[in-house]
Order: sequence, then structure tokens, then C-alpha cells
Amino acid sequence: MTCLKKEIALPSRAGVGSLDFNAYDIMAPRKPGATPAAAKNGARVKQNNVPPEGVYLPNNNRLAPHMRSPDYVQMSTAAAITLGVMPGKMHRCSCTRCLNLLLSYPEGCRANCAYCGLARHREADRDYADRNFIRVDWPAVPMDQIVEIVAEQGEATPFHRMCISMITHPRSDEDTVTVLRRWTSRIDPATVPVSILSNPTTMTRGDVQQLRDLGADIFTVALDAATPEIFDRTRGKGVASPHSWAKYWEILEDARDIFGREKFGAHIIVGMGETEHDTLTLVQRLVNMGGHSHMFCFFPEKGSLMDHLPATPRDQWRRVQLARYLIDYRGVRVEHMRFDEQGRVSDFGLPKSEMDKIIDEGVAFRTSGCPGKVREDISACDRPYGDSPPSNIASYPFQPVAVDIRKIRHQLGMEKPGEAYVEGEELEV
Ligand code: SF4
Repeated sequence: MTCLKKEIALPSRAGVGSLDFNAYDIMAPRKPGATPAAAKNGARVKQNNVPPEGVYLPNNNRLAPHMRSPDYVQMSTAAAITLGVMPGKMHRCSCTRCLNLLLSYPEGCRANCAYCGLARHREADRDYADRNFIRVDWPAVPMDQIVEIVAEQGEATPFHRMCISMITHPRSDEDTVTVLRRWTSRIDPATVPVSILSNPTTMTRGDVQQLRDLGADIFTVALDAATPEIFDRTRGKGVASPHSWAKYWEILEDARDIFGREKFGAHIIVGMGETEHDTLTLVQRLVNMGGHSHMFCFFPEKGSLMDHLPATPRDQWRRVQLARYLIDYRGVRVEHMRFDEQGRVSDFGLPKSEMDKIIDEGVAFRTSGCPGKVREDISACDRPYGDSPPSNIASYPFQPVAVDIRKIRHQLGMEKPGEAYVEGEELEV
């Protein structure tokens, strides 16, 4: 088993119409189709009612068992390999530092986000436990088994952080609390701090407070879309999904008040039709509030409502990834940067010598997320190949080395004289 999968949508150098960015007009999702009654709300799984037997690996020629949180949770392939409940290896990574858990129900997520492999409209095609999030499969594991393994590892655990992802489900608020209690009853949150990837649609300020009181360390909100229009088109009314921009901001502001500086953040996907200026203005707004942004590169997940659209061209992604790092960790402000008439970054606001140092250090191009135990700007959550194929990495789940930096500079159009990138050379590392 491996975290790599057959590639169906390789990112191009340029987007549709030879643009080097994904423009709003072309990034429209398909409309979701109707789901037959026999497949709705996890009906197949509940009718088969196959009892679970320990770890369930997706797509393993077995009927999906009837598993429910809080007794079962799903986890990323990288986390399952690192925990030791699944064999496998990851391209150029030894393991992940974040134990990403996902609440799990036969009914699956009741939202319909256009870019997401877990979206409700997919229930006609695949049972919930066989759907992947973006690119990566999520095995299901008994919660007690997870706690037992990590508690036994103690200080020696490879995990620097645990994260509970709440999907949109009527039980997710209550079950998140139970999963958190089960964890903290055996594992000191000072040894492995806990992040919450929230589901604002069903939450109140009181829920946010309760999670903080029970020992959660960081609270994040997956805004995903950078503007209200794109939010509505990809996660709201545009795709018959229940989310609203206003509710997400309400809970994000509650998190700022309750969790405090550096302890809250928002996810943003780059390349769904926003301009680079839109995204970086949002990044600055989050920094002004005292939080951070965690960034993802749009990938057209097969079976999603955006699977016909182009992955984010790499130069758009690199510009935004680099500019976001400068705003989040190097004190540059969006007002110091310059943008062209299409909202693309044309000047990052720092002298060339400083830019060279930051680019060559490579941290700006690593996966962004909640910190681990290495340094504040290195995420524990490295999500190997969760937003790109390994042949054309968007978020590096490892420290980029010289050959990777040559490729990144090539993508940015900032190659150093005498250090040209040779296509494919990084694959020989
Ligand atoms: S709420 Fe999250 S898990 Fe559910 S469809 Fe949207 S992005 Fe996917």
C-alpha cells in the first residue's frame, strides 16, 4: 500500500486559454445530480449492516462495514502508516507528524462542497468509508485502538499533533467532544496537542468554548473559498450545500476571542477562481486578527463537481504560497506587495537579496498548517500528496533540497543564472 495513487489530472504549466492562473469564469462547478433513494443517507451500508472488524482499508473488495464515530474514526493514509495500522511507504517522507482524524458515519458528510471527495452527491457512487477526501484514502480505525497505541508510545510518539476533522453531520458536535475526551483521558495534550478542524455550520460559540475548556489547542475553520461569491458557488447554494460565508466568519471570530492569538486559523484553497490579490488580502485579514492561514492548492478530485477543471497552474500557486509565507511569518504586508491588472503578484515587497534567502531556505514551500515541535513556521500537518501528485508537488511534505528549489524557482520564473532546472531531475532524488 502506498500514499501514491494513479494520476488522472496532472497540473499544467498554464490554465485554460493559456492563462497562468485559474480565472473565475472557467472555474464553475457542475450541478449535483439527484441521488436515488436506495443510496441516500448511507442506506446501503445500514441495510447490509456488516459488523466492523478492526481497521477498515478503503477499496479492499469488502462491503463497507457499519461504523460510526465516536467508536470509529477515519485517518489519512499517511497517519495510518505512521501509526502502524497499515503497511506502506510515502514518496520521500518517512512519516507524518500529524494524526489527522475524521469523524465517520454511514450517512457521510451532509454537505456538498464542489471540490471535495467526501461530498454528499457522491453517495450514489461510493459508500462513505470508501470515499477519499482529496487524493488520499482514509482508512477507518477504532478510536480506542488509536488512543491505546499513542498512549503506549508516550513521549516517543512520532506525532507532534492530533487533529479532529468534524464533517457536516447532526452528531459531529457531540462526537467531537467525546473523541477529544477519550484522547485527553489517556494522552497529555502537552505531549500531543490537539487541533480542531471545525464544522461551523452546526456550531455555536458555546461549542467553541467547550472544546477549548476540554483542552483543544488550536481551532481552525475551513473557509476554503477566498471570496463570498466563490464560497457560495462551491459550498453554498450553488451546489445545494448548507454552508454560509457569514456563519463561517461568525465561528472564526468566536475562535479568535476564545482560543486567542496564534491559536486559530483558516484553510484557503488557491485556484478556484479568485485572484491572487483576493487570497492575499484574506491572508492579511487573518494575520491582522492574530491568526494564520493554511493553504491548499486546488486539485480536481475525480468524482467531485470540479473534476473537469484544471489544477492550479504552478506559477499561480507558487506566487501565492510564497507571498502567504511572507505575510504570515516575515512581517511583510499585502500593502507592501504589488499586483498587476489581473491581480497577480508582480512584486513581493522585499529586496532581491532577502527574497533569494527566503526562497533558498525552502520552508515557504512546505505544507502549511498547525505547528509541530520543530519551529512555528513548519507545520506538523504535512499531508503528503494531499493537493498534488508527487511528480509535480504543490505543498512539499518534506524539506525541499537544492533540486526542488531549482524546480520551484523555475515555476516562479526566478531561476538563478547558471542554475537552470532540468525537467524531471528531482525524481532521481
Ligand atoms: S464540509 Fe468538509 S468534508 Fe463535507 S463536503 Fe465540505 S469540504 Fe468535504
